[in-house]
Formats: sequence, C-alpha cells, structure tokens
Amino acid sequence: MDDELVILGSGGGRHHIRTQYRATAGVLYKFNDIQSHIDPGPGAIVRINQHKEDPVKTELFIVTHAHVDHYSDLSVIIESSREILHDGKYNYYKKGTLITTSEMFQYISDYHLNMLEEIVKFKQGDIFNYKGVEIKATKVVHSPKNEGFGIKFKLKNYSLAFTSDTMVYDDFSEEFSDVNILVLNLLRPNSIVCKRHLCTDEVMQYLNNIEPPLDGLIITHFGSYMDSPRSTKNYVPSQVKKLQENTNIKNIIAAEDGLKISIRELLK
Ligand SMILES: [Zn+2]
Ligand SMILES: [Zn+2]
Repeated sequence: MDDELVILGSGGGRHHIRTQYRATAGVLYKFNDIQSHIDPGPGAIVRINQHKEDPVKTELFIVTHAHVDHYSDLSVIIESSREILHDGKYNYYKKGTLITTSEMFQYISDYHLNMLEEIVKFKQGDIFNYKGVEIKATKVVHSPKNEGFGIKFKLKNYSLAFTSDTMVYDDFSEEFSDVNILVLNLLRPNSIVCKRHLCTDEVMQYLNNIEPPLDGLIITHFGSYMDSPRSTKNYVPSQVKKLQENTNIKNIIAAEDGLKISIRELLK
C-alpha cells in the first residue's frame, strides 16, 4: 500500500460542525501499512463509510487537542476499529494506540480506554516511536485554555507534519524545517485575522522561510469565512493561487472532502 492521506473533512470550526457544509471528520494518514486517524471530529465514522474507507484498519488514534471539531467521534472510531469487541467471557480485545493530551482523558470513557493497547499522553516537544516511525509533538499557539500539539512523522524516506490549530509563532518555520509535506490548518483567507487561528497573509512568509522548501503543502480545516454560505464566495482557489505565487513550495493542494492524496505524487 502506498502512503496516502484521505481527507475525511476539510472543514473546521463551529459553523461547519453545525452545517457540515464542509465535513469535520479529520484525516486518515496511511503510512508503512499503518492506518492512523487524526482528529476524528463530528461525522468521522459517517465520512469513513461514505468515502469507502475501512474503519477496522485504523490502529493509531491521534487527537491534537480537546476541541470538539477534533475529538467528538474518538470513542466511535476506537469502537469501530475492530469487528469483534470481546470474547464469550467479555474479555475485551485490546487494539491500537491513542496519542493525545492529558486533558483529553476526561472526555473518553474507561470502557473505550480499556479497548486500547497503549495510551500515550503527549505534549509539545515529546517524541514517541511507533513501529520504527518517530512521531513528534510540534508547538502550537492556539487556545489558552487547552493543551495541544501539532504532529510530525519522520519516516525513512520523507517527513510529514500536521500543524493542527495554531497561530504563527517566532520559530514556526524552524519547527517544520525538515518536513517534506505539511498539512496546514488554514481557517481564514487573505488578511482576515482570527485570534487563535491562521489566515493566509499571516502564514505565507513563514511557509516560504521553511528550509529546505516544502515539497508539498496541503491546506485544510477551512472555516466558514473561507467557504460556506456565510462567506461571499469560496476563497479556497484564490488562496492556493496566492500561496503558489508567493512561496517556493512546489506542490500546493487544497483539501476537499473525500480527496485521496498520494504521498509519492507530492514528493516529486
Ligand atoms: Zn479546529
Ligand atoms: Zn482548536
């Protein structure tokens, strides 16, 4: 199986949670024959089935912070990752690894935690080795009330990172300096600033300063200003164009619900 990203939801924030104009189901990242689900928000299991993916294959569950558009369906996804829950004596089969903030544990029942093989409490700067792949929690500046992290996967042939929800910070470019492919949560277009998130004009120079230049950038987690009945138009295509014209990044892709992205194609 080639490494792949499946965009289950390209939306973020409370308006998309309500309307599902863009889905809020997170991303499947398949690497080294491992299926991981990152930030399974509202509708995650519906979108997995809609896009003909198999929830039973998921073995790595990652929730970057305790905002409902990132975690609401976590228990559903854990429970759906096995066809059989327990044996005749109600011994539950253990499967999978959960990586998340310590804050998140109040939102998961013991019932679901007990289904997991391994639980990893993660905070910024932590590193965890999963089957030979180094997984690092990158820095975020997001909610003052919630812990959070971005996530960087270092594989043998390439490195891929998810910024998660964040604003820019001084060493943003350095944080992603050895990354080939970056998945950027870009809530708003142009210079429409949002206190805890990114807009294009704020982040553009930081993206351009990543050394060596990114092979691929995927923008996702669009808010309602970017594309919804509340916005004057779909700003996504113009933001891709703007980033292409103002950065040194070779491949820039806008997430769409259900889009499947081959990693190999992006590394060209
Ligand atoms: Zn979010
Ligand atoms: Zn958030």
